[in-house]
Amino acid sequence: MSEEMVFQISVPTDEEGFVLLECPLCGELFKLNPSDYQDDSVFVVYCPACGLVSDSYVTNDVIELGLAMAENYANDLIMKELKKFEKKIKGSISFKVSKKPNRKPELPVMLTIEAFEKKIYPCCKKEVKLKPILKMSGSYCPYCGVMDYGFE
Ligand SMILES: [Zn+2]
Ligand SMILES: [Zn+2]
Repeated sequence: MSEEMVFQISVPTDEEGFVLLECPLCGELFKLNPSDYQDDSVFVVYCPACGLVSDSYVTNDVIELGLAMAENYANDLIMKELKKFEKKIKGSISFKVSKKPNRKPELPVMLTIEAFEKKIYPCCKKEVKLKPILKMSGSYCPYCGVMDYGFE
């Protein structure tokens, strides 16, 4: 069993191509354009709400889906092995694999229906989508970490 597990999880983008991200430190949701943050010049992304840098801004939905897929995959492997074993010993003793482990639902990652407002930070001239309240109260530029007060 040395197969490498590769799970493709498709994360939907909104109609303008923004991806929903979640700060693991403060739980704030925001949206960035993948073509911006996957740029080679962008090494870190600052959370617009707490201003801290995290390794990953993957949302809970994506994590749950990944875990469900991994668990289902592992269960499938176990079942496959048990079935082989069942065949091998047929006729000698009775051994039947009957109970299939419950499969975890693999729910597609949904787009959030929460309203986001677009903000262009004057420092980096990049577009970010924030919750209206965060936009109003001031936020950190995800690309350089500079605090920008809500005025435009
Ligand atoms: Zn945060
Ligand atoms: Zn900036």
